[in-house]
Amino acid sequence: MSRQLLLCLSFVVLVWVVLFTCLTHEEMALRNCEYKDREAYLADSVVTLVFAGDVMGHSPMRTAAFNPVTGIFEFRECFQFVEPYIQDADLALANLEFTLAGKPYTSFPCFSFPDELLFDLQKVGFDVIFTANNHVVDHGKKGVDRTIRKLDSIGMLHAGSYVDAASRDTTYPLVVEVKGMRIGFLNMTYGTNGISVRPPTVINMMDTLEVARDFKRLEELGVDLKVVYIHWGNEYQLKADRYQRAYARFLARQGADLIIGGHPHVVQDADTVFSPDGKPVVTYYSMGNFISNQKDADAKGGIMIRAKINRFTNKVIATEYMPYYVHKGKIHGKYHYYVIPTVPYINNRYDFSLSKSDSLFVLKLHGDMTKRLSNFNKWAD
Ligand SMILES: [Zn+2]
Repeated sequence: MSRQLLLCLSFVVLVWVVLFTCLTHEEMALRNCEYKDREAYLADSVVTLVFAGDVMGHSPMRTAAFNPVTGIFEFRECFQFVEPYIQDADLALANLEFTLAGKPYTSFPCFSFPDELLFDLQKVGFDVIFTANNHVVDHGKKGVDRTIRKLDSIGMLHAGSYVDAASRDTTYPLVVEVKGMRIGFLNMTYGTNGISVRPPTVINMMDTLEVARDFKRLEELGVDLKVVYIHWGNEYQLKADRYQRAYARFLARQGADLIIGGHPHVVQDADTVFSPDGKPVVTYYSMGNFISNQKDADAKGGIMIRAKINRFTNKVIATEYMPYYVHKGKIHGKYHYYVIPTVPYINNRYDFSLSKSDSLFVLKLHGDMTKRLSNFNKWAD
């Protein structure tokens, strides 16, 4: 073979290699005719995770939900306007900010709420419940253990609190398989309102050594994606503080792919932090209350987050937020607490309308939340 021909062949091979290593997985798959079009590729490759914030358990919610005829608390209709989005997710996740300690039911500062709210969250489409939060030990060991028993009794996946260390060792980190993808979840809280956690109970805390060990464990388990759902920050502060920002960078250094936060009762700003090798890690510092009886203007709404993951490349390809308003009042003549997504409401896509003052409030709340998250994408519906 002549030298010229050899050079020519080498060049062709080089171009081929460069071309193909530059192609995305999508371009490769389409080029290889594995899918008929882009839509088919996206439908098969994307795993969607939907995160909701803090599910509160205030006593007026209990009163509104009680059906005197059946003697049962009914919460499912609270979520009827967000249910389609939750059902649509491959995996939907939320934080239970109260205990299922049984009767007598109690409210602030130590919550025990009816089991029906958990059962209805499952009917609405939630698959995973996180329990590491500042109210988890409100009713001591009895509350922790009974909450776990109720979660287990309905087959709800959960993470955050444990009856003992052995149980934590065998079930944490939580790894969930979705469409062949293994997703690892870590969940931890800044504290427990000064109530001490007594052995054998274990609650996941923001202990950096322990969290670093949990990340190593995720590595050993060979997960495809590492998601952190964390309870942190200052209540009613619309911006994350320096400690949250530093901790997010720590989580990114440990290998987090996505960070989702809660606790402040309001929606905080969001950010992209970076791992040491330059991987962007989207961080939503606080989603606000998913449902509550809180009266502060900023606490009467929140956001849900949808993350789209490519299961072939294990990359977070998009995150979007959906603002909503928690309406306490009548809809179609029925008094309840309703989680109403703001975009379809403002676009008149529902067959009801709120009072003029409530409608103006929705507009303002929507404007404030979207302004705070202006560097992130709204959930296109
Ligand atoms: Zn909290």
